[in-house]
Amino acid sequence: MKKDIVILGGGIAGLTTALALKKIGMEATIVEAAPVFKPVGAGITLAANAMQVYSLLGIYDKLLTEGNSLGELKVLAQKGKKISQANADRLKNGFTNLAISRHTLHNILLNEIDQKNIISGKKSIRMVQEEEKVKVWFDDQSFMTCDALIVAEGIHSTIRKQLLPSSTIRYSGYTCWRGLTTNTNLNIQETSETWGKNGRFGIVPIGDNQIYWFACKNASSQNQEMKAWKQKELLQNFQDYHEDIKDVLKNTPDNHIIWNDIIDLKPISTYAFGSVLLIGDAAHATTPNMGQGACQAIEDAFFLAHELQRNQSIQTAFIQFEQKRLRRTQTIVNQS
Ligand SMILES: Cc1cc2nc3c(=O)[nH]c(=O)nc-3n(C[C@H](O)[C@H](O)[C@H](O)COP(=O)(O)OP(=O)(O)OC[C@H]3O[C@@H](n4cnc5c(N)ncnc54)[C@H](O)[C@@H]3O)c2cc1C
Repeated sequence: MKKDIVILGGGIAGLTTALALKKIGMEATIVEAAPVFKPVGAGITLAANAMQVYSLLGIYDKLLTEGNSLGELKVLAQKGKKISQANADRLKNGFTNLAISRHTLHNILLNEIDQKNIISGKKSIRMVQEEEKVKVWFDDQSFMTCDALIVAEGIHSTIRKQLLPSSTIRYSGYTCWRGLTTNTNLNIQETSETWGKNGRFGIVPIGDNQIYWFACKNASSQNQEMKAWKQKELLQNFQDYHEDIKDVLKNTPDNHIIWNDIIDLKPISTYAFGSVLLIGDAAHATTPNMGQGACQAIEDAFFLAHELQRNQSIQTAFIQFEQKRLRRTQTIVNQS
């Protein structure tokens, strides 16, 4: 199929989709709102299902070199006593479960995509479908016309809000801080999540001698006090927890700590709208409890390329995609 395809959003969904389309000989233009491409977040775990897709897309070995393969995942009580232990190897189905910095993942994806197909600093504001074409306008007054529009704009997607004004973003009831720090002096090898009365704390070695950590605590939505918490306040909150947590926090400068409330998208029942398709968090943003948000976006990219290869008509491919993806992604949102 020789078609003009525009992907809105250069996050994991948009970049992986551009790569998957390239592998089947289709070009797409990515239009990203941010002036500079940069991932939001610290580290990420890519479960075996996502790594299987990346294997098919030819970047598995690169990811393996840059990330850290996860073995055992421990759940610990506040003082470090083991509550449970899961062997991630049993879940891997021939592919590793990987922890990697988001920055590194982004760069690996960006390096695979032709730079001429990437436009940054343009935020979509609305679109209209006219006969077989889609016209999309941007915040700089410009517009583009294409045969297919793939919307990978994340949970706050402008185009999803236009298509489904009543789609609902839900607050989970807990807020989250994330950070990255060097593991050089800490030398922590274990992946763990600690549960205690003041919240959860996850520690994940991610390769390149770095630690990715996250801290979660029940709170009211957009709590301004929590938003301002940095190293000092987090150390205070986790003062009765085991030493690794305090070491990780002490080792993380304030400017390496990010904060956000945990939200998801109430499952929607349509992803395909003629020549417009919602994918990734724009379609099925989930809470991170199962570590499957980005993994599902990566699966989307694979299934979309597969359907575009099989079907002559873009609209049919989009409907087929929706039929394959709705149930699985909704199950994950609900279970998470
Ligand atoms: C605390 C936390 C931990 C997580 N951990 C994991 C994990 O370990 N494993 C996992 O699989 N998932 C994890 N996730 C989920 C994962 O981060 C998301 O599912 C994933 O980033 C979604 O990718 P996306 O490309 O769909 O959306 P996004 O990453 O949100 O990217 C959207 C892109 O679109 C751009 N954009 C937005 N609006 C517009 C517009 N109007 N026009 C053009 N561009 C636009 C944005 O600037 C952005 O670059 C976690 C999430 C959180 C909050």
